[in-house]
Amino acid sequence: MIVVGHVAVGALAGALARSRGAAVGLGLVLHGVADWVPHGDTRSRPFEAASGIAGVLALAFARGPLDRTTLGAAASALPDVEHVLPLPRPGGQKLFPTHRFPGWHRAGRVLPVSFQLVAAGAAIGALVAGAWPRGRG
Ligand SMILES: [Zn+2]
Repeated sequence: MIVVGHVAVGALAGALARSRGAAVGLGLVLHGVADWVPHGDTRSRPFEAASGIAGVLALAFARGPLDRTTLGAAASALPDVEHVLPLPRPGGQKLFPTHRFPGWHRAGRVLPVSFQLVAAGAAIGALVAGAWPRGRG
């Protein structure tokens, strides 16, 4: 899944989570789920980085850096950092399970890039606009 798609999924999960810890945990787990659903990806790392960072920053400015939506979004996007940073690769493989095990990250047509972009923009935009109440935990 494209990074901003992970940001949106994590933000929505954070909105539903009962605590910040749950938001982070859900964000990480849903990264794996979203990578497993057959999807399109872009090859533009600058676009991936810029759109993902912009999504998290928009949530942080609008809702606060420790809001559950912001934490869920950041946690959900975090595993893709290993695509650009020189993190350890035990056995020559990346760390996150859907990046490490063949067949766990699936390309396909269920979630094309265009759908991911529109859905992510709508979800993040709604959360930035205050469509979901802020949590205290
Ligand atoms: Zn991934």
